[in-house]
Amino acid sequence: MYRGRFAPSPTGPLHFGSLVAAMASYLDARSQGGEWLVRIEDVDTPRNQPGAADSILRTLEFYGFEWDGPVLYQSSRFEAYQCALEKLRRARALFPCACSRKEVGEIYPGTCRNGLPPSREPRSWRLRVDDDPIRFNDRRLGAQEEVLSESVGDFVVKRANGLFAYQLAVVVDDCWQGITDVVRGSDLLTSTARQIYLQTKLQLPSPSYLHLPVAIDRTGDKLSKQTKAQPIPTSEPAAVVTLAEAFEFLGHTPPQPFHSIKDAWAWIKPIWETGNIPAVRARSISHA
Ligand SMILES: [Zn+2]
Repeated sequence: MYRGRFAPSPTGPLHFGSLVAAMASYLDARSQGGEWLVRIEDVDTPRNQPGAADSILRTLEFYGFEWDGPVLYQSSRFEAYQCALEKLRRARALFPCACSRKEVGEIYPGTCRNGLPPSREPRSWRLRVDDDPIRFNDRRLGAQEEVLSESVGDFVVKRANGLFAYQLAVVVDDCWQGITDVVRGSDLLTSTARQIYLQTKLQLPSPSYLHLPVAIDRTGDKLSKQTKAQPIPTSEPAAVVTLAEAFEFLGHTPPQPFHSIKDAWAWIKPIWETGNIPAVRARSISHA
């Protein structure tokens, strides 16, 4: 049974890039008779914006998305993350690290791998990685390979501020929710090898992955809350135009303007082909 998910972080209102991600995973799930779940990734509590989770859910609802089951909030899952952490610790896959973010840089140099330096206090927990290539097949991009020791090094699973790392939370929840297919933005492609490695270490199954082209604005910047992407409109007829733009971005160009949101979904659902999503990475969209 196919089971997909959309997993936004509540750091701001829904923008075009997240609409595209929600849409592609939703249509991929429904076109295969599968279930589609929504998970609010509020594990990084200091970054959460009050009201953002509700706003995202209301916007999804307004745009006509229908999800299965209750929404899962990562903030309710800390015990499960702690369990996973204990499992890794018992397997001697973790080590305490005293380094600050400033001391580390892009790739962890292994400073605390064989014990904390003298008179340093542990801050975070890192997962030991190795030199074996992680290989997976992306449904859109094809064969992928990453050697974690060369790309990131030993990575953090519990942070200095006591919070669990995003990578650990995602892996634990994807398994717990029985997710078989992950469809998400290419900005998360660089997280996939770490997530597969964690799945292996925790003896969890790996879902299949499809990474979408990233939506960029006219200046070529990735659309995100960080680059102040505009929230998508939440009234008709502007929302109907936005839906059509998202269909087009995903390789399905509407033959004529839609009358309503309902109308738009009625057109796309029977003709949706995940294979039509353009292979080229990104192109600019008009409303950015
Ligand atoms: Zn360290």
